Amino acid sequence: MHKVDVVVVGAGPAGLSLTRSLAGSGLSIALVELQLASTLAEPAFDGREIALTHASRQIMQAMGMWQRIDPAEISPLRSAKVMNGNSPFALGFAAERENVSELGWLVPNHLIRRAAWEAVQGQAGLELLDGVSVTAIETGDDANLITLSDGRRLAARLVVSADSRFSSTRRMMGIGAQMRDFGKSMMVCRLHCERPHRHEAWEWFGYDRTLAMLPLPGNQASAVITLPPQQMQELVAMDDARFGQTTTGFFERRLGAMEPVGTRHVYPLVGVYAHRFAGPRYALVGDAAVGMHPVTAHGFNFGLQSQERLARLVNEVAEQGGDIGKASMLARYERGHRLATRPLYEATNAIAALYNDNRLPARVLRGAALRAAHGVAPFRKMIAGHLTQRMA
Ligand SMILES: Cc1cc2nc3c(=O)[nH]c(=O)nc-3n(C[C@H](O)[C@H](O)[C@H](O)COP(=O)(O)OP(=O)(O)OC[C@H]3O[C@@H](n4cnc5c(N)ncnc54)[C@H](O)[C@@H]3O)c2cc1C
Repeated sequence: MHKVDVVVVGAGPAGLSLTRSLAGSGLSIALVELQLASTLAEPAFDGREIALTHASRQIMQAMGMWQRIDPAEISPLRSAKVMNGNSPFALGFAAERENVSELGWLVPNHLIRRAAWEAVQGQAGLELLDGVSVTAIETGDDANLITLSDGRRLAARLVVSADSRFSSTRRMMGIGAQMRDFGKSMMVCRLHCERPHRHEAWEWFGYDRTLAMLPLPGNQASAVITLPPQQMQELVAMDDARFGQTTTGFFERRLGAMEPVGTRHVYPLVGVYAHRFAGPRYALVGDAAVGMHPVTAHGFNFGLQSQERLARLVNEVAEQGGDIGKASMLARYERGHRLATRPLYEATNAIAALYNDNRLPARVLRGAALRAAHGVAPFRKMIAGHLTQRMA
């Protein structure tokens, strides 16, 4: 039986970040990942442009990840606008109003993954078990026993799942999750725009579709298009020229003609909130704990917070020579992460549901909601504060 202090399941951005945050603790870590190391080292472009807050940038800087991303690939977000149908009214946020030079930054997901992978290379006490998955977890008083798909077995004082919102190890631990399937898919694609975007992001709730436009370096933008399944299939099947024209039409030529410059990627819209974030010698981080609907762009921001919160507690206990799987520490982690995420998770689902509803009462309500949000300074401040808040 191979014994380690910590097993992390999943070498996605959350699992890799947690691993990196435990560097220097003296703990031995086994990182178990389905994909091969060669794929993790050169992750493929997946269309996701991740909006990162000030606090997330700070966490990534402290882990030495931010510095590994080419600055030319990072796009500052200077303002944001939320629009409802064809109403001329829009809810706006601007960096200067918040006394910062940027509201946040957009970074391609595959570059975050690559930076996270690079940051753990050569880390003392770390071994990567790639190309395998976990097939069973047995809990025990002093350690949990893990069985891998190739038959190997590991004993760990603490097991952490970071294996996506559809986590199979969460289920192995008997932890359920509240799942909300929105019945729609989201397409993301990079396009070249004729007119400058001035680093403004748009969220545009049309009556038949939801659109977002994320400003990327130069004259490129990421179009984020939410549609019911049949219309999505039609969009997927279009050739590049027709797709460009259709997208230009969706955005009413506000950025002039738009031409695709990258591959199209489609994601199902399912929000997930685990019933518990901890169990016996066990914790959940990243999307495995909280899988957000992308409309408020908070998934990985929460992922970074979760691993930072857990790592801080584990590092503290390890430094004092304590038990890194102790229940009181895990309960503290669970409480903290629930408090930090639950309100925004619920608010995000409510927004997504309201703006996916085309019936007249919902149309009226969403117009009213935007106006109310505009008029109520604390609400605007809450959203802007979420983006620009720094770590304590
Ligand atoms: C279209 C879109 C736009 C988004 N935009 C934003 C945004 O603007 N801002 C933001 O903060 N977030 C955003 N997100 C969310 C963000 O992408 C996720 O929160 C983040 O990628 C989750 O990271 P993770 O490491 O928890 O999980 P994942 O990225 O899902 O990684 C999980 C890893 O676990 C591995 N794995 C799975 N099962 C097993 C197993 N059984 N055994 C071993 N390994 C396993 C997988 O191979 C993978 O490497 C967006 C998401 C989407 C879909």
